[in-house]
Amino acid sequence: MAISDHVNLEQFMEGLKRRNPGEIEFQQAVYEVASNVFDYIADKEVYHDEQILRRIAEPDRVVSFRVCWEDDNGNIRVQRGWRVQNNNSIGPYKGGLRFHPSVNQSILKFLAFEQTFKNSLTGLPMGGAKGGANFNPKGKSPREVMRFCQSFMNELYRHIGEDTDIPAGDIGVGAREIGYLFGQYKRLTNRFVGVLTGKGMEFGGSPIRTEATGYGTVYFMESMLTNVKDSVEGKRCLVSGSGNVAQYAVEKINQLGGKVVTLSDSSGFIYDPNGVDEEKLAWVMDLKNVRRGRLSEYAEEFGCAHQAGRPWDVEADLAFPCATQNEISTEEAKVLIKNGIRGVSEGANMPTEQNGIHAFTEARILFAPSKAANAGGVAVSGLEMSQNSARITWKEEELQKLLLDIMTGIHDRCAEHGRTSGDDYIDYVKGANIAAFIKVADAMLAYGVV
Ligand code: NDP
Repeated sequence: MAISDHVNLEQFMEGLKRRNPGEIEFQQAVYEVASNVFDYIADKEVYHDEQILRRIAEPDRVVSFRVCWEDDNGNIRVQRGWRVQNNNSIGPYKGGLRFHPSVNQSILKFLAFEQTFKNSLTGLPMGGAKGGANFNPKGKSPREVMRFCQSFMNELYRHIGEDTDIPAGDIGVGAREIGYLFGQYKRLTNRFVGVLTGKGMEFGGSPIRTEATGYGTVYFMESMLTNVKDSVEGKRCLVSGSGNVAQYAVEKINQLGGKVVTLSDSSGFIYDPNGVDEEKLAWVMDLKNVRRGRLSEYAEEFGCAHQAGRPWDVEADLAFPCATQNEISTEEAKVLIKNGIRGVSEGANMPTEQNGIHAFTEARILFAPSKAANAGGVAVSGLEMSQNSARITWKEEELQKLLLDIMTGIHDRCAEHGRTSGDDYIDYVKGANIAAFIKVADAMLAYGVV
């Protein structure tokens, strides 16, 4: 078939929308990748002939299941759980579990699709998956969370395995939930294997897994700045979120000499012009990880402003969105640009709306897309899998160095494919999409039509 007979980007997206009606987030994630990949494969007929992108955008498997559990008052509660196994061409399926009331099939398909490319960028042998449930852990007692996790695993265990699919945490799934999930997996199968990552250090966890995503996001920013002979040191930084990724992004920014002036949660954001220093960060970690309170308490404790909404109209040099998807609208991106933002590194998955990304790249802002910038977490998860297979634990210093090397490697791979003609600007979105695509696509070509 001649190249001109192949579908173009618009026809491809029309078909995708027809096959996945109403799945807005999934369509958005595929479009972001497809728009770069179509340019790249314009003169590479084999990828068209073998329908590679069409196949990557069709999950290998979507499992949806009922999760029944009993609350503390004896009421029967019914939730919906999913595991989306998107692609295992370069390794077993790998990706987190999200427990949040907003979870639906579209969000998990978008996350599993993104994960396929992110995992490819790490250079480690991991395919892409994502899962979760529309369960809200907020306000639930620890026993209720435990019963939910056990019931969720009663179905999930059939679909996962250390060489098949290795879930991890995500929003609403932290060390506590991973412990309950692993405990139930072990009970059901009578096997102690590395089937989940993000485990406690007592039962097969890896040093620096907890820190890895946040640290990695800041390392990526530092690499982008180094490339233009600058650094995080002395920069005013906006961070959104106050969960796992945000907390360790703040820690690393502080270590590199930056100053964090905002944090957020689902009830609003704090603006602390004096900076969230080490001591205040420890207080936030206790608030969010132990007491499970609201960020408004920070404002009371440290005497600063708290308001509804998101932090993007505060003036700063760098922004680290670390809460959730679509949390920087196009208008907010324009406000950030107007206020002089120099760089944006996405700790959360797909936090910037499509046109917001265009605004950043058009304004030549250093912009690190999530699939590259937050790949540090899954990279250390991959290293946790290796340690579990060998039944050893590596030293923290070794892992710190590996994380830094992996993030620098991802930066360089994105830079290689993201160069733009006409100026020195690197389009990291394009670079990440193309670098990640090539590896998955070439593995798929090797397998034939399966
Ligand atoms: P956590 O559950 O630890 O924290 C999430 C934070 O985001 C909380 O502060 C939460 O506020 C806030 N948040 C969640 N949903 C919303 C919303 N709709 N509006 C405003 N704020 C919201 O999750 P993580 O830190 O683990 O994950 C954050 C992001 O990073 C997600 O996009 C996740 O997919 C991504 N990510 C995480 C990785 C990891 O290793 N953990 C790896 C790669 C990506 P509240 O406290 O009110 O709930």
